Amino acid sequence: MRYTNCFIPTLKETPSDAEVVSHQLMLRAGMIRKLAAGIYNYLPLGLRSIRKVETIVREEMDRAGAIELLMPSVQPAELWQESTRWEQYGKELLRFKDRKDAEFCLGPTHEEVVTDIVRREVKSYRQMPFNLYQIQTKFRDEIRPRFGLMRGREFIMKDAYSFDVDSSASDLSYDKMYQAYRRIFQRCGLRFRAVEADTGSIGGSSSHEFMVLADSGEDAIVSCTQCEYAANVEKAEARPAPAEHAEPRPLEKVETPAKRSVEEVTAFLGIPSSALVKTLLVVADGTPVAALVRGDHDLNEIKLKHLLGCETLEMANEEMVTRVTGAPVGFAGPVGLNIKIVADLAVQGMKNFVTGANAGDLHLKNVTIGRDVTPTQYADIRNVVHGDPCPRCEAGHLELWRGIEVGHVFKLGTKYSEALRATYLDADGKEQTIFMGCYGIGISRTVAACIEQNHDADGIIFPIPIAPFHCIVSAVNTKDAEVMAACESLYRDLGAAGVEVLFDDRDERPGIKFKDADLIGIPLRLVVGSKNLADGKVELKTRRTGEVELLPLADAVEKIR
Ligand code: ATP
Ligand code: MG
Ligand code: MG
Ligand code: MG
Repeated sequence: MRYTNCFIPTLKETPSDAEVVSHQLMLRAGMIRKLAAGIYNYLPLGLRSIRKVETIVREEMDRAGAIELLMPSVQPAELWQESTRWEQYGKELLRFKDRKDAEFCLGPTHEEVVTDIVRREVKSYRQMPFNLYQIQTKFRDEIRPRFGLMRGREFIMKDAYSFDVDSSASDLSYDKMYQAYRRIFQRCGLRFRAVEADTGSIGGSSSHEFMVLADSGEDAIVSCTQCEYAANVEKAEARPAPAEHAEPRPLEKVETPAKRSVEEVTAFLGIPSSALVKTLLVVADGTPVAALVRGDHDLNEIKLKHLLGCETLEMANEEMVTRVTGAPVGFAGPVGLNIKIVADLAVQGMKNFVTGANAGDLHLKNVTIGRDVTPTQYADIRNVVHGDPCPRCEAGHLELWRGIEVGHVFKLGTKYSEALRATYLDADGKEQTIFMGCYGIGISRTVAACIEQNHDADGIIFPIPIAPFHCIVSAVNTKDAEVMAACESLYRDLGAAGVEVLFDDRDERPGIKFKDADLIGIPLRLVVGSKNLADGKVELKTRRTGEVELLPLADAVEKIR
């Protein structure tokens, strides 16, 4: 494609309302534009990357034997009432009425609709197993749509649903999807982990999330250095309590004298000094809420925001703690314990609580799960620490990562088939309930997650499989007829060799062209300028490494294809 025929409205400045890198870069690279909160236009460049992900997903779903269909995004209330999710789903479900006052919603997911199709058509065990999937627009009225395509209200999802005669057959369908998902994210060129996950509100017996590793991820996950074990921290198996902690000890409030040394503090708390620790002040919506500590792994700030019910959260350093609280800072404890305190006090509506600074007897010792903190609270603050022994294999240790959820597979069991009475007759003519699984991939989120993982100060660094184009041919001097002729032949021959080429034929300064090429993240750049061309050479630059190589013009196509 010729740049002059394209619609790539790049921006020099970072838009002020974009908080995360992928959102900033997708706006700057002219990939998306906002229409309303959480609702985006996919501009041509953005659409090309989205289509790349769709194609990989479609190929792998087909390979796994799933069958594509397309269901409506407008769904009647009756189906949702049958599954009881009309009441349960809450405000994320966007509801409306038609002219006859009949109630509808915009589909956030399609368990009800697909189960309705199947209950009408499937009568016999002979018709199973099968798996139906679609690639379609979903709508979820998220409380805080933000981060561009990462958490939109309207977004593109691939959703698949498996139907089996019993639980063990359903397990096989689940494994097929699990393997297909691994291939999909490998083919996308992403670094990811498949982690054990909570089944949440969808219900069902077991589930895995596919997490793209990126520092900006909302989820904390652990994976073992030796075995396959990986889990969302919400679900991670607690490390075994040390023997001497087996009997819960009485909860103690602890005086916090000024300026204890790290060694004193850790000895006092009975934790390794590596679990330490830095005192920080949490300022929620502009009000100091609490000071707490931070170990060598990150707090999940997003979860903390959720716990505190605030929009903005800042972490201050020790000096700020002292400035705001007027108290010297010197005490520290393990992360989980302090977040627990913050969470508890937030629940009690006590917003001006300070811990970590020496403002009184505000530390707790011997916190016991189930007694002092509910398992749900604990799930959010679980103190899984980088370097802990693996709960499964004992040989490895846990590594802590931040992850972006791009895919999710669930065993649903009979939750929906029972509610909607999707049954079949078995070999003995007995009526049985169908076993289901559901499998989602956030197509649009995957592109954003890819950018969160692959970028630098100059812009996006697309892996080839998701890149909108593989190669950009930049003409340095558009006035030079030989340069333009060489570009034209490269453009034509690369295209004929199956390389997707963007030909920057704009009458712009090279600096502008190079900046745009870096920004939109095309993996390879061929620069054709008068000087090199006089020696029969062109320049090839690899976006990721920055490596530059002079090649004979005649070799360029062979080198790139
Ligand atoms: P999250 O935890 O991020 O809210 P979810 O668990 O609610 O996601 P699922 O119901 O598992 O999402 O949906 C399947 C996939 O759809 C997710 O793994 C994610 O990739 C994608 N997805 C979900 N919500 C959004 C959203 N608001 N914007 C973009 N993609 C989304
Ligand atoms: Mg959600
Ligand atoms: Mg989730
Ligand atoms: Mg999920």
